[in-house]
Amino acid sequence: MPELPEVETVRRGLAPVMEGAVITAVEARRPDLRFPFPNDFAKRLKGVQIERLERRGKYLMGHLSSEECLIMHLGMSGRFTIDEFHERKSRRNQPTGALAETGNPKHDHVVFELKSARPARVVYNDPRRFGFMDIVPAAEIDSCKHFALMGPEPLSNYFSAASLNDALSGRSSPIKAALLDQRNVAGLGNIYVCEALYRARVSPRRKAGSVAGKRGERLYGAIIDVLRDAIEAGGSTLRDFAAADGALGYFQHRFDVYDREGEPCRNCKSPIQRIVQSGRSTFFCGQCQR
Ligand SMILES: [Zn+2]
Repeated sequence: MPELPEVETVRRGLAPVMEGAVITAVEARRPDLRFPFPNDFAKRLKGVQIERLERRGKYLMGHLSSEECLIMHLGMSGRFTIDEFHERKSRRNQPTGALAETGNPKHDHVVFELKSARPARVVYNDPRRFGFMDIVPAAEIDSCKHFALMGPEPLSNYFSAASLNDALSGRSSPIKAALLDQRNVAGLGNIYVCEALYRARVSPRRKAGSVAGKRGERLYGAIIDVLRDAIEAGGSTLRDFAAADGALGYFQHRFDVYDREGEPCRNCKSPIQRIVQSGRSTFFCGQCQR
């Protein structure tokens, strides 16, 4: 499931063909993904220029010349593929390993035709259809249902050790759950929460409200570092696999604890443990994380 770094990587992959391009046609091949497409979806996008492509949490936002904003969420399995027409032949359907796996065309649900110096077709593929797209007026971006309750963007100035401390203070839920709650901080999911807690040496079971002082500062720093490292890893993956076939989606990062149950902690060598919290696996080191 894509988290902030994966979505940022997708944004960076799409930006060169989307920013500044005019949408000449949109084909939505179904009435819905996770949710129905908004009314007149294709009509509202046709002939409109995408001025900027930004990211907020796990959402992509295309700022449009029509004073609307195209909001896109990848859900669990969404991915974009870029076909560039100036290529001698389309590079589609030449998968080069798991990372570059192109989706089955029967799951191609949305096709954007783009006109610019780099004319392209951008295809959204989503086998499980947990992704969705929406269009909201530019003036209502911050107050729309997707963002109204969303917490600070972790790599922005709105997020700090103090703001994290405020968000956690008094909370009796486990810190793992508090970090997954997008109202406290945007963009984190199961993977990067596990990784940040490990790096901060904080137990996932600890009460959120007790993660304060030095421990809170360590956690703040760990969140930033884990995300920055993953975005950097995504950037290098992008160079490899977008170059190979134009598919943008996921990358396999070297994790310290995530999905490493039973393997030795990279710090103390004790086996990484797995527990289930709120129905989801948590991976951690019982020795290093307190
Ligand atoms: Zn350890």
